[in-house]
Amino acid sequence: MLGMMQDWPLLCHKILDYAAAQHGGREIVSRSVEGPILRTTYADIHARAKKASQALEADGFGLGDRIATLGWNSARHMEAWYGAMGIGGVYHTLNPRLFPEQIAWIMNHAEDKGLFVDLSFLPIVEAIADNVPSLRKIIVLTDADHMPKSSKLEMVDYESWIGQHDGDFAWKQFDENTACGMCYTSGTTGDPKGVLYSHRSNVLHALISVQPDALNLGSNEVIMPVVPMFHANAWGIAHSAPMVGAKIVNPGPLMDGASIYELLDSEKVTMTAAVPTVWLMLLSYLEETGKKLPHLNRVVIGGSACPRAMTEAFQNDYGVQVIHAWGMTEMSPLGSLGVMKPVYSDLEGEVLLDMQEKQGYAPFGVEMQITDDENVELPWDGKTFGKLKVRGPGVAKAYYGGAGVEQFDQEGWFDTGDVAHINANGYMQITDRSKDVIKSGGEWISTIDLENLAVGHPDIQEAAVIGIVHSKWDERPLLICITKQGKNPAAEDILEFMRGKVAKWWMPNAVAFVEEIPHTATGKIQKTELRKQFADYRFDDG
Ligand code: AMP
Repeated sequence: MLGMMQDWPLLCHKILDYAAAQHGGREIVSRSVEGPILRTTYADIHARAKKASQALEADGFGLGDRIATLGWNSARHMEAWYGAMGIGGVYHTLNPRLFPEQIAWIMNHAEDKGLFVDLSFLPIVEAIADNVPSLRKIIVLTDADHMPKSSKLEMVDYESWIGQHDGDFAWKQFDENTACGMCYTSGTTGDPKGVLYSHRSNVLHALISVQPDALNLGSNEVIMPVVPMFHANAWGIAHSAPMVGAKIVNPGPLMDGASIYELLDSEKVTMTAAVPTVWLMLLSYLEETGKKLPHLNRVVIGGSACPRAMTEAFQNDYGVQVIHAWGMTEMSPLGSLGVMKPVYSDLEGEVLLDMQEKQGYAPFGVEMQITDDENVELPWDGKTFGKLKVRGPGVAKAYYGGAGVEQFDQEGWFDTGDVAHINANGYMQITDRSKDVIKSGGEWISTIDLENLAVGHPDIQEAAVIGIVHSKWDERPLLICITKQGKNPAAEDILEFMRGKVAKWWMPNAVAFVEEIPHTATGKIQKTELRKQFADYRFDDG
């Protein structure tokens, strides 16, 4: 017997319809590539996204066509997404921080037919367009006045392109499982893999993420997604913010401490989200200038482990609550959030910080398990660690084109590639990527725990730990550090700071100081690169 309720497909453009109807006057503020701060509203974005849909249709785009975007977070970028989705097309975010050849590889794999591009990224497109034969339309996210005077490419400016249409357009109707978005994983090893979101998965993910114990979003929020739309959908904010009518403040191309601070302050941002490297820049800026964050309530930190010292600085020095979150492109991306359940509501001081080092617990819609190598489920005791696996309506069931089949099993579990433990209350803590874990004398050492500890030293800016071959123990940890400007601590001073805070046999055998630690295009420490750099390194005793 079937239920007798209405069939109301979960389509992404319904989110924008809702935002325009109920929160039409709520603002979206964007720092533009051209310089000025641009202001628009949900009503405007709705009307202009419909024009973009019309323009795409007029250019022959339709159901299933992949339409790439190479842009900073902006209102126009949002319109491009919704315009593409409104005709049943698939927005495909490209990460401009990748090498041009990697971008071309990804575009060819996805067979992108169209491209929306910010002015800043035209040199990339000029370098690769000839090598992407499927590409037949390039729309520059600017107006006629800012178009380059000459280019070897045939391009139109976005404003003139949508300006030819009246916005009198009915979104196309189709099944909620229709593909609507695409994002390739950063792929530290092997080729990037494509994740293909559906309307249903994006809408459900947005519903999940606005919940009070997740991002806790509502119409009174002023949210600044510093995390780019090309990094796992800006963690869903382009869908979750309009779903509740939150004001969005887009930082555009400038993510240095001063520029981020300027918008946090002038727009009275209440909530923001980004990877730890961005917050390092903001915290240094605040430290240098003595400025405070009177409007900001909370900051969501994920993408890499949030160091304890960072949580401490935000909470204790600036009164901003940190929500440590974990997720993956393959999970739309939210997987867990470090908000406190009633059992932990009284925690404070060091014990609260201990709990916040964990990546939190899974919201409704994300199921988790940890298993050993033989696929036997491990207990949630807060110490036994194993492979972290997830499933849910916002989790990929395969990669586009069929790569990585070994990561998906018959019961629908997706092997995240992360190693974690989960405590009795469901709080998960990532100890490593499985490829980064150090195996010493048959036991595992968590590099993330050591890194977090090291950056707690007042002179350390950033730290990375890798395994170095050892004749007796197979592998032993090497701590690689960047010191804060003007600081010159001795290796022994850092080791002394760490001693007693981790098991003795976890202690790094040595410390190496470097000028720079390489990062991936999504801000993660690039351990493959570090392992190459230190391939010939050996400890004195082994
Ligand atoms: P991406 O798809 O680029 O967001 O990368 C996902 C991966 O980033 C995860 O599988 C983790 O290895 C890592 N990651 C994300 N959030 C965290 C976090 N809070 N702590 C540690 N690692 C994280």
